[in-house]
Amino acid sequence: MSKFCANCGKELEENTSFCPNCGTPTNPEDVTESTFVGNGNSSYNNASFNQTANMSEQKSKIAAGLLGLFFGSWGVHNFYLGYTNKAILQIVLTIFTCGIAGIWGFIEGILILAGSINVDANGVPLKD
Ligand SMILES: [Zn+2]
Repeated sequence: MSKFCANCGKELEENTSFCPNCGTPTNPEDVTESTFVGNGNSSYNNASFNQTANMSEQKSKIAAGLLGLFFGSWGVHNFYLGYTNKAILQIVLTIFTCGIAGIWGFIEGILILAGSINVDANGVPLKD
C-alpha cells in the first residue's frame, strides 16, 4: 500500500519520515487527516484557489470597500489590498486635482462592495 505526501502529492517510501521531494514530515499513522489540520485553509473550498494564493491571508471585502468609500481619495483601500502603486497614484492625483480625482477611489470602494473588484494585488479572493 502506497503513501503520498500530503503537501506535494509525491509517492513516498513505506518507512520514510520526510518527503524526499519537498521535505514535509510524514505521519505513518494517518497521512490524510492530521497533516491537513493547521494549514489554515481547510475551510476554504474554492477550487480556483491556487498554490501561490494559498500562502496569503484573505482580505476583508467589507473593510476594503469601506476604506474606499471613506478614504478612497487617499488610496487607503489600495494600500490595504496591496495595490501600492495605484494607491500612490491616487494620492498624487487627489492632490493635483484638489480632491476631484478622489471620486476614483470612492467608485472603487463601491466596486469592491459590489463584487466587481474581488481579488487583492496577489490574486487572493476577498472574503465576505
Ligand atoms: Zn512532498
